[in-house]
Amino acid sequence: MKIFCVGRNYVAHAKELGNDVPEEPVIFMKPKSALLQSHTPFYYPEFTNELHYECELVLRISKNGKYIQEKHASKYYNGITVGIDFTARDIQNQLKEKGLPWEKAKAWDNSAVIGKWIDIKPELNKKDINFCLYKNKELVQQGNSANMIFSFDSIIAHISNYFSLNIGDLVFTGTPAGVGECVVGDDLEGFIEDESLFELSIK
Ligand code: ZN
Repeated sequence: MKIFCVGRNYVAHAKELGNDVPEEPVIFMKPKSALLQSHTPFYYPEFTNELHYECELVLRISKNGKYIQEKHASKYYNGITVGIDFTARDIQNQLKEKGLPWEKAKAWDNSAVIGKWIDIKPELNKKDINFCLYKNKELVQQGNSANMIFSFDSIIAHISNYFSLNIGDLVFTGTPAGVGECVVGDDLEGFIEDESLFELSIK
C-alpha cells in the first residue's frame, strides 16, 4: 500500500506558506508505516516543536492502473474521507531551505490520519464537497473541492504516469488555507459536509 500526497493544491494555502502556485501537481509520498491505525493513540513526535495539521480530502484507490487517462480516472477510486497530513513544519522549513527531501517532515510513523470511508456514489458531485477541521470544538480549516487547482481525476492521471496505482493505495489531495499548530491535549475532529469522520486527541 502506498500513500500519495498532493502539495499546494489550493491557491490560498500555497500563498500562506509563501509558495508559488504550481503548474503541475506537487506529489510526495508517505510509507505504509505513516498510516495511523484505528484505535491507536497519536503521540506528539519528539523531533518537532511545530506540529501542524493539514486537513485534506483522501481518496481510496479501488482498481490497479498505470497511464490512466483523466477521462477514465474516476473508475479507479471508490471511497472518500477526510484526513490529516501531519507535518513537522519546523523540520520542513529547514529541509526546504536546504533543498532537501521532505520525508523527515512529512512521512514519519503515524503522520497520516484518515477517517471513516464514504462510498462514492454516482450522484456525488465531486466538484462540490465541503470538508472542515475543528480543533477543540473551534473551526480551524474549511475547504471545498471546487477550489482545488488539480481535480481528483487530474491528480490520479498525473500520479499514474509515474507510479502504478494499486488497490488500497491512498491519495491525500491537498490542504486548503488555515493550516496551523497543534499541541499535546488538542482534540481534532474532521468532517465531510456535516458528518464527523474522525476524532483524534494529541497525546
Ligand atoms: Zn498536505
